[in-house]
Amino acid sequence: MDCIFCRIIAGEIPSKKVYEDEYCYAFYDINPQTPVHILVIPKEHIASADGVNAENSIYVAKIFEAIPKIAATAGLANGYRVITNCGDDACQTVKHLHFHIMGGRKLPENMG
Ligand code: 5GP
Ligand code: ZN
Repeated sequence: MDCIFCRIIAGEIPSKKVYEDEYCYAFYDINPQTPVHILVIPKEHIASADGVNAENSIYVAKIFEAIPKIAATAGLANGYRVITNCGDDACQTVKHLHFHIMGGRKLPENMG
């Protein structure tokens, strides 16, 4: 298993857990870009948003059900941004679908 996020789910690589359920796992980003920077990942390996289909889209739905709970736990009552980088042009570095939950300060309007 050479996927770093699959190894985090398996507990082979330590992480700072924020939330977990049957479908997803959330943990603090190792290199935070904002005061609060959390990653949410599906427990099934999906390479990116481009790999979502009718068979695995339940994971994405469940992640989006979990996001408000994760944001509340993290104290993001004033708002937050949810981002997924998909493929080389978006600079995706880990090829396991993940959603960045970013906040804790006013974020720039520009998205890229
Ligand atoms: P991407 O650039 O693929 O959208 O985001 C990958 C994110 O994963 C980056 O923000 C990076 O800091 C984070 N990351 C990479 N390896 C690890 C790790 O081993 N542990 C944690 N907690 N975050 C990681
Ligand atoms: Zn994986």
